[in-house]
Amino acid sequence: MTEVPLTGKRVFIRADLNVPIDNGRITDDTRIRASLPGIRRALEQNAAVMVTSHLGRPKEGVLKPEDSLAPVAKRLAEILGVEVPLISNWVNGVKVEPGHVVMLENCRVNKGEKKDDAALARKIAALCDVYVNDAFGAAHRAEATTHAVARFALVACAGPLMAAELDALGHALAHPARPLMAIVGGSKVSTKLSVLGELAKKVDSLIVGGGIANTFLLAAGKPIGKSLAEPELTREAKRIMATGKVRLPADVVVTDAKVKSVDDVAAGDVILDIGPKTARAYADGIAKAGTIVWNGPVGLFEKDQFANGTRTIAEAIANSEAYSIAGGGDTVAAINRFGIGGKIDYVSTAGGAFLEFLEGKTLPAVAALEARADD
Ligand code: ADP
Ligand code: MG
Repeated sequence: MTEVPLTGKRVFIRADLNVPIDNGRITDDTRIRASLPGIRRALEQNAAVMVTSHLGRPKEGVLKPEDSLAPVAKRLAEILGVEVPLISNWVNGVKVEPGHVVMLENCRVNKGEKKDDAALARKIAALCDVYVNDAFGAAHRAEATTHAVARFALVACAGPLMAAELDALGHALAHPARPLMAIVGGSKVSTKLSVLGELAKKVDSLIVGGGIANTFLLAAGKPIGKSLAEPELTREAKRIMATGKVRLPADVVVTDAKVKSVDDVAAGDVILDIGPKTARAYADGIAKAGTIVWNGPVGLFEKDQFANGTRTIAEAIANSEAYSIAGGGDTVAAINRFGIGGKIDYVSTAGGAFLEFLEGKTLPAVAALEARADD
């Protein structure tokens, strides 16, 4: 985007403004703020700016009130200090003056969006002179606004957030300062199995925590009581452990906030956090790392009794000299809760796309932009 002249041009920005909304109120506007540089850049150059995003998972063809970008348009208007009219049914034409910005209603409501439909994408391309994809968080999906439009737009380019995410994550994984350490937590192994497998190949050590650790503990023959686990994945877990890089908790915090050794978990116990000994050991490892990649809380951090593990990890990362990156919806919520965002080198706004990037997968939206890079 920084290399494309925008003055007087019609600029269509696909952003990721998929923010959490509770009863019509935005509970975290990080993604809106992260999208400001692209929008501001276009406005400063007197472009006629159209911004859209997906929000939630609406059914194509119907706009339910809870799927509307209305709260997002309002918030953006407050931050920018200008009016941001919200336009629905925008595919066949949009009125917007140079120097002004409009928001185009939830793009996933358009029929054909999810199927990456070429006819829809041509219409969207016809709305603008310049198509900007700044939605790194949606880059793992090939949809009309993230993928097909890039083929048909007169000019297609990456926005500043997309560029920053790719720079930061690429930097961490291409030539990482060693040791490279990954910390993966969260609730379920099944959602992160492929990333765990790929990371185990690349990193020097793979710290496992949270609900994910339970399946690994089970695979290691430890008792886990009634803890959340996926016994059908213990074979996969063993295969990953065979790399010799996986570090598992030695102690844990169970239901009634009791600390137990992983050998002493009782049949009725539910593991909800890593124990203090484990947290300290992980923190020591983090202090010695050259590069740190973090996804997934290591406990039920939303509850104070089970937040210590995640807080200890977060603070260790914040205090480490290592180059650190973190991403994932709940991971970012934890980072915000512990107030350490400013001390992590790069906090990704993305969840799924962040994980797929770590896996080394080609993100379809990025590939589509790269295909136009030589124009
Ligand atoms: P992210 O969104 O950062 O990728 P996930 O969605 O995979 O993270 O997982 C986050 C959730 O995992 C949090 O809500 C947290 O409470 C939960 N969690 C962490 N550890 C445990 C555990 N031991 N048992 C149950 N849930 C857990
Ligand atoms: Mg999550």
